[in-house]
Amino acid sequence: MHTLSFDVEEWFQVANHVHACPREGWDGFESRVELAMDRLFDLLQRRGSRATFFFLGWIAERHPGLVVRALEGGHEVASHGYDHRFLQDLDPGALHADLERTERALEAAGAPRPRGFRASTFTLTRRTWWAFDVLVERGYRYDSSVHPVRHPDYGVPGFEPGISRVEAAGGSLVEFPVSTFPLLGRNWPIGGGGYFRLLPGALHRGLFASLERLGRPTATYLHPWEVDPDQPRVPAPALKRFRHRVGLTSTLSKLDAFLQRFPSVPMEDLLVSHGHLE
Ligand SMILES: [Zn+2]
Repeated sequence: MHTLSFDVEEWFQVANHVHACPREGWDGFESRVELAMDRLFDLLQRRGSRATFFFLGWIAERHPGLVVRALEGGHEVASHGYDHRFLQDLDPGALHADLERTERALEAAGAPRPRGFRASTFTLTRRTWWAFDVLVERGYRYDSSVHPVRHPDYGVPGFEPGISRVEAAGGSLVEFPVSTFPLLGRNWPIGGGGYFRLLPGALHRGLFASLERLGRPTATYLHPWEVDPDQPRVPAPALKRFRHRVGLTSTLSKLDAFLQRFPSVPMEDLLVSHGHLE
């Protein structure tokens, strides 16, 4: 069983662009999220797949119609936090405020209170483990923010790559990391947009077929800007520019082929049907 999710944010809100596109200027950039979401909603409907959309509260406030359309399409609406702050830049009080503001924006757009959370840029690490206490306290049922990989900016390399339960101060919740592939003693982050765009489609699908044979539910994620090759170019060092732009023109057709092989259900539905949530 497979779940596809999207972190709903604008092209200028990507962590790689934080220096060129500071928060104070966000309202001055060209909004392209509706155009990209049109393509995603259309594709999902055509393929009979349903997904989880982790919305930034900032987006839900400015584009409540996208929340409505996600719900109408039978998708799950979950939280990506308010304005893409890294967890290590927050403390528990600030995370409470950030989550509350996002919940209010989602509810104002007609969504139920979110049950799932994904932190900005996988910044739920050993350093920010306290975030689980906050999530449990606010009633979240699952999280998808831990990335069990080695990476200079994030990751918890030894963490269980499958679905597990994390104990926190006031209870526990389910952790569902996006999929990784075990090879040469390491977990490789194949579930994310960069790898999705970089690897040839057939190879990428083959890796997921291997995970499926291991009996593992799989999780992939993308961003709306990854199906928008016409987005403005942002000045950045060469490697970051490459990571941001590689394969943008073919993401949508690759995703189409992927969904035909691995139809998606929302993350919460998958967790319920596998007995991890009631
Ligand atoms: Zn994000």
